[in-house]
Amino acid sequence: MTIQSFIPPQRTLMGPGPSDVSQRVLSALARPTVGHLDPTFIGMMDELKQLLQYAFKTTNANTMAISAPGSAGMEACFVNLVTPDDTVVVCRNGVFGARMIENVKRIGANLVIVDSPWGRAVEPQLLEDALIANPQAKFVAFVHAETSTGAVSDAKTLCEIAQRYQCLTIVDAVTSLGGIELRVDDWGIDAIYSGSQKCLSCVPGISPISFSDKASEVIANRTTPVQSWFLDQSLVMGYWSGEGKRAYHHTAPVNSLYALHESLVMLQQEGIENAWARHKAQHEKLAKGLTDLGLDFIVPAEERLPQLNSVYIPAGVDDAKVRQYLLQEYNLEIGAGLGQYAGQAWRIGLMGYTARSENVALCLSALTDALNKFRS
Ligand SMILES: *Cc1c(COP(=O)(O)O)cnc(C)c1O
Repeated sequence: MTIQSFIPPQRTLMGPGPSDVSQRVLSALARPTVGHLDPTFIGMMDELKQLLQYAFKTTNANTMAISAPGSAGMEACFVNLVTPDDTVVVCRNGVFGARMIENVKRIGANLVIVDSPWGRAVEPQLLEDALIANPQAKFVAFVHAETSTGAVSDAKTLCEIAQRYQCLTIVDAVTSLGGIELRVDDWGIDAIYSGSQKCLSCVPGISPISFSDKASEVIANRTTPVQSWFLDQSLVMGYWSGEGKRAYHHTAPVNSLYALHESLVMLQQEGIENAWARHKAQHEKLAKGLTDLGLDFIVPAEERLPQLNSVYIPAGVDDAKVRQYLLQEYNLEIGAGLGQYAGQAWRIGLMGYTARSENVALCLSALTDALNKFRS
């Protein structure tokens, strides 16, 4: 049998990512591939850095996009900054905080875990208690927007506390960037990573990342090489910066970077504050509709992420059957529960280009139909 071309269905993506990619970004992806050291491409990379600085609200020179998904951005922050002698305080309130812990363990550094309940924000007082008890701590790491539960943590306050105890901060902004307020410089974040496929609505596989001058100094002053050659930021920056002397490190995903550039141009044209407001407005419409359907949110209203809505699956309703029905009948993808909420919750994403009225309406009418069919 000859295998034919793969033609994917046209879905509406309302899960935890990837989100819908606009035709404008898909068209950018289809432009001619050029060499990854082509002068025009290097010019585009320079613009990309500026656009990422805009999105992160930073002037950090060390801002670029890692040629791999958000998980690689996470790993890049940890392996470049943390050495086995360091103590790292990791705040955990969901799956992605647990992955940060895994990174610290693999480096062999000293680990202090601050646990907050799943479905809630990280509790700032618990972080402060841990820093008082561990004065040797050098880094504080936390997830701004926990996609596994839909809870937002108060990044500004957590960074303030970390700074009071002379710690550098490592922040996961994979789901927050472009969807909710995020101010890298104002809040004093030292290392931050994101993902292309959540509120930026670009194709998956790229991780925007930024290091403060303080963090860049820590990297520059390392006495041991970074354990990952591919993610070694000093080598990667040799490719992403430097007047006329870019060194080959790896071949950038050329067309995916066109797509990221386009998605960030769209963000800038909309205005990032307007994008935050759009996510909030669409979330409020969706939340009202879900509540009217009798669905209960996991996260209390004041700690909810607009771009990720977690609701309990009503008793007696078959999780897999509903999601399969939505996919088959409506071409609509919503997310399953993750970790502690596997089988118990749905995660409904309103990320980036997905966060529009027509999708809120589709989701509510499709869910109404599915619940009428499957609710006993
Ligand atoms: C999706 C996500 C990641 C991982 O990103 P990938 O692109 O899937 O590797 C990390 N952290 C959070 C909070 C996420 O939502």
